[in-house]
Amino acid sequence: MAVAQKNFHDPFDFYIRKLPEPDRDIQTKRVSVNSGVIKSVENLTYDTYKIVIQCSDDAPQMVATAGQYATIKVPGCRKPRSYSFAKAPENENPDEHTFFIRLVHGGKLSSWIAGGNREGEHVVISGPLGKFALDDSNKTMVCIAGGSGMSAINAIVEHACNKQVERDCYFFYGARTQADLYLQEEMQEIERNWNKYFSFKYIPVLSEEAEDSDWDGPRGFVTEHFKDEYLSKGVVSVNDIKAYFCGPPPMIDLGVETLQNAGLDDSDIYFDKFEDIRSPAPVIDNTKCVLCDECLMVKPVPNCLVEATNFKTNGGGEVSSFERVTPAKTSGLYYNSLFIDDNECIRCYACVEACPHDAISADYDKIPKTLRRIS
Ligand SMILES: Cc1cc2nc3c(=O)[nH]c(=O)nc-3n(C[C@H](O)[C@H](O)[C@H](O)COP(=O)(O)OP(=O)(O)OC[C@H]3O[C@@H](n4cnc5c(N)ncnc54)[C@H](O)[C@@H]3O)c2cc1C
Ligand code: SF4
Ligand code: SF4
Repeated sequence: MAVAQKNFHDPFDFYIRKLPEPDRDIQTKRVSVNSGVIKSVENLTYDTYKIVIQCSDDAPQMVATAGQYATIKVPGCRKPRSYSFAKAPENENPDEHTFFIRLVHGGKLSSWIAGGNREGEHVVISGPLGKFALDDSNKTMVCIAGGSGMSAINAIVEHACNKQVERDCYFFYGARTQADLYLQEEMQEIERNWNKYFSFKYIPVLSEEAEDSDWDGPRGFVTEHFKDEYLSKGVVSVNDIKAYFCGPPPMIDLGVETLQNAGLDDSDIYFDKFEDIRSPAPVIDNTKCVLCDECLMVKPVPNCLVEATNFKTNGGGEVSSFERVTPAKTSGLYYNSLFIDDNECIRCYACVEACPHDAISADYDKIPKTLRRIS
């Protein structure tokens, strides 16, 4: 594995990791850890903030693809959290990155953002991560986002608009009330600037808007509206769409199920689930692992994914203690295990996406296996 130069700008003692050539896909681009300063914080709604992070001039540039995400670490918060880049990279200054962060009550990072004037505060930003991105077909784009899932979809539609893609796009956005809507003008601008031979349609759908309000747009759950008014009525056809979902996992699960039931192939569905600390940490099946190190090169926290041995389990079959193997002591990974420490994992799922051998999943058996038995 290539752990390259130490980043001396990084106050939190991370590393810049350069991934091996050749550049196979967007995941294997350079993942860098930069120090940055919060340049601005702006309210998009009563609970959603737009923050712009300016990375230091002399740090290596973080080159993201629209749809990817980064992890952000803020003062007073021991672990970072994941946030999607909210603008197409070509629409930002090269050393600046915009994020939309929604306040979660009791949430450490989002409460810190909401809790005072954060402009000028130093943060650590690590990325780019993830494989969510615009595909290069000419099929109709069906984008469905909820809440702060607007971020990654906004980046993707901005990028598609800049590229003047030769395809139609329907963007369904699920929110609770009119007070939860944002980027309304930006959506109109994308509609105006979309390739003139094709169409971009932005459709906000409200689930909790008061019956007697002045809202004359669609109501209900966004995935239901898409199903009833567009899929069932043949406005869009599974024979000619690529679907993009971003936001809360339950919304995505429902939408994906709807499209699968309608016959859309999994290869035509892309999604970015905003997992959080309530989600299960992924598990490594060491019998599938080929020790390629790709997961280690994208991990955003030093101790989430480690080499370990001497596991003890509790009554429920979960690991209660383990011994971390240091390079001086190692007997080789053949006899130890790569292990995800539940208490350190931030549920970014970057390792799951990075693993080329399907060796990491939240569904695997939690008891670590070694590659070989010690005889
Ligand atoms: C790939 C990826 C991209 C993401 N992109 C974004 C983004 O662009 N914008 C954004 O706002 N978020 C995004 N998230 C979610 C984000 O990473 C954090 O989970 C979220 O901001 C909460 O962090 P916190 O520190 O405020 O809360 P935490 O301190 O992590 O959680 C505190 C408590 O709040 C509860 N909690 C956490 N999240 C929620 C929730 N959503 N609803 C209800 N209760 C909750 C938990 O039970 C926990 O006990 C993304 C997540 C992933 C995996
Ligand atoms: S173990 Fe995987 S999902 Fe957990 S923080 Fe590390 S890279 Fe992210
Ligand atoms: S778990 Fe996957 S990514 Fe990590 S070393 Fe093993 S094969 Fe490579």
